[in-house]
Amino acid sequence: MTRSRTLLLALALLAPAVPAQLPGEQLCGNCETSGKVELEVNGKFEVEYERGPTWEVLNCADAIESDDMAMDWEPCQRCKTPSVQEKAQAEWDAIAAKKQEWLAERRQVDEFLDTEMAHVETTHFVVSWNIPKISVDRKSYRMHDAAHLYAKRLEELYAKFQTLFGIEDRQNMRNKHWYYALEKEREALKAGPVYAGLQGVGTVKRAGGADKESVVVSWRAKSEHPSDEDFHRHWIHSTIHQLTSVYRDIHWFTVGNRGLNPPWLNDKYGWMDAGLAHWFEMDFDEQCTTFCIREHDNKARWRGGDWRKNIYKAVVAEEVPPFPEVSTKPTQALSAREHQFVWSWVDFLMQKDAKAFGKAMKMAKMEAPARDILKDCWDLTTIGFETAWAEWVLEAYAPSNKSGRIDPRTQQQPRSTGGRTGR
Ligand SMILES: [Zn+2]
Ligand SMILES: [Zn+2]
Ligand SMILES: [Zn+2]
Repeated sequence: MTRSRTLLLALALLAPAVPAQLPGEQLCGNCETSGKVELEVNGKFEVEYERGPTWEVLNCADAIESDDMAMDWEPCQRCKTPSVQEKAQAEWDAIAAKKQEWLAERRQVDEFLDTEMAHVETTHFVVSWNIPKISVDRKSYRMHDAAHLYAKRLEELYAKFQTLFGIEDRQNMRNKHWYYALEKEREALKAGPVYAGLQGVGTVKRAGGADKESVVVSWRAKSEHPSDEDFHRHWIHSTIHQLTSVYRDIHWFTVGNRGLNPPWLNDKYGWMDAGLAHWFEMDFDEQCTTFCIREHDNKARWRGGDWRKNIYKAVVAEEVPPFPEVSTKPTQALSAREHQFVWSWVDFLMQKDAKAFGKAMKMAKMEAPARDILKDCWDLTTIGFETAWAEWVLEAYAPSNKSGRIDPRTQQQPRSTGGRTGR
C-alpha cells in the first residue's frame, strides 16, 4: 500500500549514515535497527492520512481513542538494539502525551454539551461535530467521517481563497478556525455564548482578532439546510467571512496608523464582506442561500432565487442602486436587494481581476475609500465601474446566456472547483 511505502521511505531517509546502534549493540532484524515497526491501520482510519498540498490531519478524537491511536508505526517490541528502541519509545510517548492532552481538552465540549462528538483537527481547522448522519451523493456519512469530510472541504476552500487572492498564512491574524457543527438548536444556543461569545437562533460567528479565536457555531436546521449541499454552501459563506476577517498583517501599518479596527470588513465595507461571501456560494453551485443573522432581516427576499436574472432585469430597467451610496454601508445595513447587487459587483470585479481582491481587502483594512480601491486595484473610476459593470451584466447574465451557464470569463461550462465534486 502507498502509505506503507511512504513510511518505509521516510524511515529510510531518517536512517543515519552511521550505524544506528551503539558500539557493542546488536542489529535488530525486526525493525531494521530503526526502533520503529510499521503498523497496519484499520480502514476506518485511512482518513487520518488524508492530506492536500497545504494541509494534513493533525488530530482526531476517535483515532486517538482507538488501538495504537491509529498510528502507522509503533516502537519495536522485541528490539535487539536498546538504544534505538528507547529513542523510538520516547518519540511515541511524546506524541501520545500531546494527543491525549488535545483529546482531554476537546472532550470537555462533549461534557459541556452533554453529547458525543467527533473532533478533527487539520492544519487550519478544528471541526467538532455531533450530527449523527449526513447523506452525500447518496452515501451516508456518520459523525467521524462527516467531520473529516467537512474539515477537508474547509481546507480546500481555504487553499482556494488564498491562491485566488495571493494570501499567505503569515498575513493572517489567525490561522486556526474552530467550527462547531451541532445537531440541535439548544446545543447551539448553549455553545454559542461560550465558544463564540454570541447567541443567536442560527449560525453565530466570532471573527478572529488579536486576542480572539475565529469561531463558528452552527446547527443543522433541516428547514434551512435540507441537503448536504445546502449545509456545505452555508459553511462556505460563513468561512469566507472568517477568512476575510483574519486577513490583516501588522506589517502593513506604521506607527499611529491602526487601520480598520476591529479588523473585519462588515462595519465599513459591507459590499465586499457580503459580496465575497455570496460570490463563493454562487461559485459552489450557482445559489446564494445564506444570510447571516446580522445581515438585515434574514427572511426578507428580493425577487426569485435566480440572482443573475434579477440583476439583469434591474439593469435593463435602469433600476440600479448607486455604488457610492451602497459601498459605504455596513453589512447589516444592506437590504435583500442590495445583497444581490453587491454580489454582482464582486462577480464583475472577480472576472476582471480576481487577484486584485487580495489588494482590495488589504486597502479596506487600511481604510481606503471605495473609489481609491477601484482605481488602484482595477484601474476604474466610480462612474467607469458602474458603466462597465452594467455592460458586462447585459452580456454575462443575459437570458440567452442560459442563466449564467456559460461563464463569460472562460466561455466554458461553470466552474465548480471545490463544489459538489470537491470532496
Ligand atoms: Zn478520524
Ligand atoms: Zn528493533
Ligand atoms: Zn454573511
